[in-house]
Amino acid sequence: MLQPSTAGFRRLLPLLLPHRRALLAGGLSMLVFVACWPLLAWLAGQLIPAIGAGDLPRVLRVVGLALMVFMVQKLAQFGQDSFLAEPALLVSQDLRRQLFARLQRLEFGALEKLSAGDLTYRLTEDADRVGEVIYKTIQDTTPSALQLVVVFGYMVWLDWPLSLATLVLAPLVAVLVSLFGARVMRAAERSQKQVSELAGLLGEAIGGLPLVRAFAAEPWLQQRFDNEIDLHRRARYRTQRLLALQYPVVGFLEAAGILAVLLIGAARIQAGGLNAQGFSSYVTALLMLIDPISHLTTNFNEFQQGQASLRRLRQIEHEPVEAPDRVDAEPLGQVAGQLELRGVRFGYDPDQPVLRGLDLTVDAGQVVALVGPSGAGKSTLFSLLLRFNTAQHGQVLLDGHDLAALRARELRRAVALVPQQSSVFSGTVAEAIAFGRSASLEQIREAARLANADGFIEALPEGYDSRIEERGSNFSGGQLQRLAIARAVLGNPAVLLLDEATSALDAEAEAAVQRGLQQAMAGRTVLVIAHRLATVQTADRIVVLEAGQIVEQGSHSTLMASGGRYRELCERQLIQLGADA
Ligand code: ADP
Repeated sequence: MLQPSTAGFRRLLPLLLPHRRALLAGGLSMLVFVACWPLLAWLAGQLIPAIGAGDLPRVLRVVGLALMVFMVQKLAQFGQDSFLAEPALLVSQDLRRQLFARLQRLEFGALEKLSAGDLTYRLTEDADRVGEVIYKTIQDTTPSALQLVVVFGYMVWLDWPLSLATLVLAPLVAVLVSLFGARVMRAAERSQKQVSELAGLLGEAIGGLPLVRAFAAEPWLQQRFDNEIDLHRRARYRTQRLLALQYPVVGFLEAAGILAVLLIGAARIQAGGLNAQGFSSYVTALLMLIDPISHLTTNFNEFQQGQASLRRLRQIEHEPVEAPDRVDAEPLGQVAGQLELRGVRFGYDPDQPVLRGLDLTVDAGQVVALVGPSGAGKSTLFSLLLRFNTAQHGQVLLDGHDLAALRARELRRAVALVPQQSSVFSGTVAEAIAFGRSASLEQIREAARLANADGFIEALPEGYDSRIEERGSNFSGGQLQRLAIARAVLGNPAVLLLDEATSALDAEAEAAVQRGLQQAMAGRTVLVIAHRLATVQTADRIVVLEAGQIVEQGSHSTLMASGGRYRELCERQLIQLGADA
């Protein structure tokens, strides 16, 4: 499992750097937007006494001015929101891209430890949440905080003693409100717990109904159920009552707070520290604080959730990635396909070797079948040949080059894998065969022909442009296997690693796949993890692997005659007779 790590949104700031211009434009719009608030509060201060005095021309002047300020402010808000949206979205896109790129480079060991579901959740839900927080922080939290500071600053400028009183009163009201909120939350949690207990009992009861009936225990179960729904109702009622109380209480507290400010304001006016206009502006400004405060509190909660998500995303960065190629990596050039293992020892945990001193030479163009019980280390050997893992002792060589000294991409172009599970990506048939490599349609057709897949592909209504659904669900197992073979031979690799499927196909499909394999294998070095008699019989050599060691080698007939482990494997039917035997 991934370990927790410390990470904060601050570390995302460099991602914003390339978007300086949009940020600057958005920031300027934001300043205009925020500066309009105290202006509006000031205008309100002019307006209210003018209305009180019935001075219509003055009222009209002020209303006209306010209308203009509102227009400027809304325009600035549009500028702010539209300029800032892009960098905010780009940052979350950059974050996703970086993480996915990292994921593609992770060490195989690390990758296998992570569950696909967990990673998918992280890269979708968590990334969404982080993106949302970035967006909100730039576009909502920042202007709200600025509004709070500017408007309160204006209030202090208007009358600092009254502001001091507000500063004492406001947190008092806030604390009382949040105390109440905490009680509601606890009650809601209790009620939630009761719901899950009810669900638990229901699950148990429904599964056990026949048993209950068999024991004539219906009254007993009904009693338990009645008790449970009674508890459930009570818990719900407690929450409802608290909620019913919450609105009046909170409303009263807020009203009391505002009344207190009014009272102090009146005292200030009497003391001559403030006039009626100033006071009207003051109260208007006070009302202007409510909105940003509520935005800031909601955003703060989301920010905390976002931080947890960001931490989960950042954990991917702490997983080890595949070692880069050596700086003095040797170019591979033309590959003949000779493979050699020299005293290869390897364990996923170095203290528990899985391959224990393997020596094996496969000449270019030879076909070697690997057989052995499950867990013998056959797939592990493949992973070393593709340099997904590296031996702790000994060497793996291709045409005399130590794999460790080659460039991974060149190696993997020369050594192609046909996996046991023929997984293809969704897209067109041609895309599935090309698999990201640039190849002409001619080359794709040739690969399909070798894999004996050209027939069925051309019979499809759209031929090579036919769509493959996710997980290849609209193709048969045999067709997918042949597509996987075509994909492997497309780059004309010198070495083919074949992991034969264990699940049997019907005779016809099996024969088609076998023909594709035979054609694809011609002229290449082939290592095949074999489960079929047809395969081992045509191999130049059979290598029996057991507990990470080679225990027997030879042809099918000599190994059968010698009556060793191979014969035993055949008799225990670990080698299937296949459809054509
Ligand atoms: P085979 O292909 O012959 O069935 P494997 O090469 O898959 O055998 O496995 C050999 C041994 O290595 C088994 O004991 C298996 O549990 C272990 N093993 C395989 N893959 C891993 C891995 N990624 N991490 C740890 N142990 C592994």
